[in-house]
Amino acid sequence: MASITVQAPAKLNLTLDVLERRPDGYHDMKMVMQSVKLADTLTLTVEPGEGIALSTNLGFLPLDGKNLAAAAALRLSEAAGVELGRLSIDIRKRVPVCAGMAGGSSDAAAVLRGLNELLGLGLTRPELARVGERVGSDVPYCVYGCTALAEGRGERVTALPALPHCWVVLAKPGFPVSTPELFARLDGQRVRCRPDTAGMLAALEAGDLNGAARRLFNVFEEVLPSYRRDRVRELKQVLLRAGALGASMSGTGPTVFGLFDDPGTAEAAFEAVRPLCPDTFLSETV
Ligand code: ATP
Repeated sequence: MASITVQAPAKLNLTLDVLERRPDGYHDMKMVMQSVKLADTLTLTVEPGEGIALSTNLGFLPLDGKNLAAAAALRLSEAAGVELGRLSIDIRKRVPVCAGMAGGSSDAAAVLRGLNELLGLGLTRPELARVGERVGSDVPYCVYGCTALAEGRGERVTALPALPHCWVVLAKPGFPVSTPELFARLDGQRVRCRPDTAGMLAALEAGDLNGAARRLFNVFEEVLPSYRRDRVRELKQVLLRAGALGASMSGTGPTVFGLFDDPGTAEAAFEAVRPLCPDTFLSETV
């Protein structure tokens, strides 16, 4: 029996731009992504036998091939042409689900990295990312983590200079968001404001945290249904008034986050937001 424990960090979108709808129905994206220490912990165990057994502390997660962690193991086994034996995957979830923080994709990427090491497969990051592409659009980025640019559907990943270390307050409002609905709303109207992705890349290159924080921007915010947009704006205002250098929504939401250069200010902001939003976290960049 062999076992490995791996972390699956949540991601934030420092920028998110949707460029155009492609003939295949997918959209071309341009996103600057950042990992944070808030993470799920996965323990992978292989022993003689066959099949995948999943366990998790969250009762409502799928425990079959629909779980992205299991899907990743199956894709890796096919791609590398190896038998996994009997694989147990235990997922301790901390990253909120359906939050725009790529929790499931990060679990999938952690399985790819973990099994690659545990089984000594010797696959490179780009090879693992290519396997991940078949599991989900955010998985290739999650294979790399840290600060990176993701383009296309998310499969073209370029590592970037790391965002200077900072503290992050994340708040997930209680309403659900529908990703297909947000894409349809974007298709149906002209996008008036887009992120300054070039400016964000220059700020990262210069190691300029303030410059990066000023350029946080997500095109999906503008097309949220109005009462949800108001809630996201309200949470951003609270974070900014509490001293955030910048605030934005991550992915298709609904999680809102603020960046802080000082742990005391971040802690105070966390305390200010928590009464408004029970799913609030204080974390820091990876
Ligand atoms: P993204 O930011 O990539 O859009 P998300 O944060 O909005 O992701 P996830 O938390 O990754 O969304 O999960 C979305 C769906 O995927 C849920 O319906 C959930 O049941 C399913 N799912 C499958 N596997 C997992 C997993 N390991 N962890 C979380 N959700 C999973």
